[in-house]
Amino acid sequence: MLEIKNLHVKLEDEDKAILKGLDLKVEAGKVHAIMGPNGSGKSTLSYVLSGRDGYEVTDGSATLDGEDLLELEAEERAALGIFLAFQYPVEIPGVGNMTFLRTAVNAQRKARGEEELSATDFLKEVRAKAKSLKIDADMLKRPVNVGFSGGEKKRNEILQMAMLEPKMCILDETDSGLDVDAMKLVSEGVNALRDEGRGFLVITHYQRLLDHIKPDVVHILANGRIVKTGGPELALEVENNGYADILAEVE
Ligand code: ADP
Ligand code: MG
Ligand code: MG
Repeated sequence: MLEIKNLHVKLEDEDKAILKGLDLKVEAGKVHAIMGPNGSGKSTLSYVLSGRDGYEVTDGSATLDGEDLLELEAEERAALGIFLAFQYPVEIPGVGNMTFLRTAVNAQRKARGEEELSATDFLKEVRAKAKSLKIDADMLKRPVNVGFSGGEKKRNEILQMAMLEPKMCILDETDSGLDVDAMKLVSEGVNALRDEGRGFLVITHYQRLLDHIKPDVVHILANGRIVKTGGPELALEVENNGYADILAEVE
C-alpha cells in the first residue's frame, strides 16, 4: 500500500541531507514500527509523507496504492487517506473541536466523491468514538487542543483519526509525554482502528508503546535510512541493548 523507494530528502533552505536512500513498504492490514536514535530522520519521514513544507525531495519515490504522493498537496494526500498524528498536536484557538472534526470529515468525503454526513449522523458517530477514548462532551466543544493536557491532545488526535478513517495512519511519537493510563487509551484507540484495509506506521522511541500496539514489523532508522528490519523482537533488543550494537553490526 505505502511504498517508499530510495527516498532522499534535504531541508529546503539548507544543504542538509536528512533522508539518504530510505526504502520502506507497508502492506495493508499491517502495523510497522519505526525506532531509531534522536535526529535520525523519523519525524522528517512523517512530515515528507504528509506533505509539510520546508523539505525537498531530491531523489526517490513514495506512493500510496500506486499514486505518487510527492506530487500532491497536503490536503490531497489527506483525501487519499494519509493521516499524520503529530508528536506535538497543534492548538487552533477560535475553532471548536466539533466544528473542526465535522469540517475535516466532510472535506474528506467531498474529495472522495461521497455525500456529507448529516448533522445527526455526525453527532452520533463523534459521540460514540469520543466516549471510547474517554473524551468528554466538554472537550468536544472547546477550541481544538487549546488548554488540553498532553494526554488529552493525543487522545484527540486519535479521535480525529477514528473519524477520518484513513488508509495509512502515521503516528509520530504519539507516546511521548503520556502517562501509562493515557498510553493505554491511545493504544486501544489505535487497536480499534486496525483493519485489513489500513496500514500503520508507528514511530516510537520506546518498546513500551509496542507492548500495547503489537507491531508486525519493526524497522530501525539511522542516519536517514532503514538499516535493519525484523519482528517485534527487534524492539526488545533495542530496549535492552540500545542502538549501539545494531549500528555497529550494520556498519
Ligand atoms: P527524529 O525525529 O528521528 O529525531 P528529525 O527528523 O526530527 O529526527 O530530524 C533529523 C535531522 O534533521 C536532525 O538533525 C534535525 O536537527 C534536522 N532537522 C529536521 N528538520 C529541521 C529543520 N526544519 N531545521 C533544521 N534542522 C532540521
Ligand atoms: Mg526528534
Ligand atoms: Mg522526531
